[in-house]
Amino acid sequence: MPELPEVEALAGYLRQRAVGRRVDRLEVAAISALKTYDPAPTAVAGRAVTDARRYGKFLDVVFDGGLHLVVHLARAGWLHYREAFASTVPLRPGKGPIAIRVRLDDGSGFDLTEAGTQKKLAAYLVTDPQAVPGVAKLGPDALSADLATFAGALRGRRGQVKGVLTDQAVLGGVGNAYSDEILHAAKLSPFALTDRLTDDQMATLHAATRRVLGDAVTRSLGQRAAELKGEKRSGLKVHARTGLPCPVCGDTVREVSFADSSLQYCPTCQTGGKPLADRRLSRLVR
Ligand SMILES: [Zn+2]
Repeated sequence: MPELPEVEALAGYLRQRAVGRRVDRLEVAAISALKTYDPAPTAVAGRAVTDARRYGKFLDVVFDGGLHLVVHLARAGWLHYREAFASTVPLRPGKGPIAIRVRLDDGSGFDLTEAGTQKKLAAYLVTDPQAVPGVAKLGPDALSADLATFAGALRGRRGQVKGVLTDQAVLGGVGNAYSDEILHAAKLSPFALTDRLTDDQMATLHAATRRVLGDAVTRSLGQRAAELKGEKRSGLKVHARTGLPCPVCGDTVREVSFADSSLQYCPTCQTGGKPLADRRLSRLVR
């Protein structure tokens, strides 16, 4: 799932490549992906791209006249920039992984795609990004929140730090992958309780959040956006590395499975060397 660093890199790429170009046409192939009907997709035609921004994990493509295409890529969505399209024939609804195509006046453009059968990609054509429910409820941004804001947000939601960090209403931008990395960098158990973190632990967690996300943004920007893959991240130390050695201490990275997700962590770095119990027993080990 694309998280803050990948979306930030996509916005950066669009600012370089698409700003100043005019839209020829916005085509909707997956009707269910476009969550709004007014303004109509035809309202984008003829407008110039003026900016690309990020809110949490949402990408916002801004057009002149104050129109925004706000996109949540969900678990398997991505944006592919095309220097040219093979055909000028408009997409037909219901076929293939392309949900939405935006054609620009130099023949280039981008496709919003979604792999797999679970279609969760959500796009909104709005005059105000705050009209998108997921944007309106976002907490402070994980990359820019200062320590006081960060600590206030996390302590305001009592719970296991892994779950709280990934709650977009608490902190915008962090998902399953980078929360594993942040907690590893901060040497904190994913099951530590937010309201029991000391000031030192909170400061360490805040610094780790900015460092892990900032480094990932830098790595993502270093690649060409067309080749960026949300699922092929480099530089991860524990996430998706179950059974491999921790690059910091050499201990074996372990996993806790949940119904529809899992987390990875290093016992030596994060839990005093003790493996965490599975979810039925997780209350016993913090
Ligand atoms: Zn370790």
